[in-house]
Order: sequence, then structure tokens, then C-alpha cells
Amino acid sequence: MSNNAACLPDGIRTASLEPTRANLNYSFGLPGGPYCLGMARTVVRRLLSAHGLADMAELGVLAASELLANACLFTPGRDVSLSVRWRYGVLRLTVFDEHPAHAADVGDACRARRRQALATLDAVVNACGGICGLAAAEGPLAGSRMWVVVPREAATLYARI
Ligand SMILES: [Zn+2]
Repeated sequence: MSNNAACLPDGIRTASLEPTRANLNYSFGLPGGPYCLGMARTVVRRLLSAHGLADMAELGVLAASELLANACLFTPGRDVSLSVRWRYGVLRLTVFDEHPAHAADVGDACRARRRQALATLDAVVNACGGICGLAAAEGPLAGSRMWVVVPREAATLYARI
């Protein structure tokens, strides 16, 4: 018992353990079924609210839901991951899926279909001053990476849409 005490740091400052924008940094693995979308929406809303970004919850939930829906639609039955981060004054949501690699011409057509499926989200995010993207995941990861990056003022702009 007394040996374990040496492993505990002295003077833990509980104030530093509070959720703030600076420590909004979560990554989740999800089974990838459509039922995950509702759970992810709930989680993203709670995270943003707890970390002082409640005004961004509506847009964040939309982005997470649409990115994950794209992954579930084009890569059914495979695991996906979602990360929610605040860095340098922007909210970043990223989804990785396990979409299979294609030959170049098939890959271009597939990417075009996936971008079309993201067109509404892309338009909304652009109108809010953000960026929506889709690309192949970079090695050593396989699959695809989709992301939305929005500045804080995007919440105000989204409320006006
Ligand atoms: Zn494909």
C-alpha cells in the first residue's frame, strides 16, 4: 500500500482536469452500423457542451452525422473512427473508414460519388466559413478520411441558415 503512494503525483490540481476548449480531444472507434449515428450525435453534442462549445453543437452534430453516414453507406459493416478536436481556434471532426482501395479509374468514380453524397454538408460548411474534405487515408492507414473544420464563428453563421 505504501509503495503505491510513490506513484501518485503530489498536489494534483483538479482545476486542470476540467473540460475546456483546450482539452477537447476525443477519438472513438465505432462498429460502423447506422445505429451508431444516433449515439455519435448524442456524444458529440455532450462533448461540445461540456467543453464550452455548446453554440457549435448543432453544426458539430450535423457534421459528425453526415461524415459517419457517408462511411456507413460506402463502407457498410466495417469499423469507423471519429475524432473531435479543438485546435488553434477551430473545431475539427474527422472520420476514418476502412473503404477498400480501387484501381485509379474506379477510385475516381467512387470518390466522386462519395463527394456527391457529402454535397449538402459541404455547402453548409462552406457557407459557415469552414472546410469539408474527403481523401484517401495516408499510410500506414488504409481506407478514407473525411473531415470538417469550422471556426468558432461558424456557429453564428449556421444559426442564420
Ligand atoms: Zn469505393
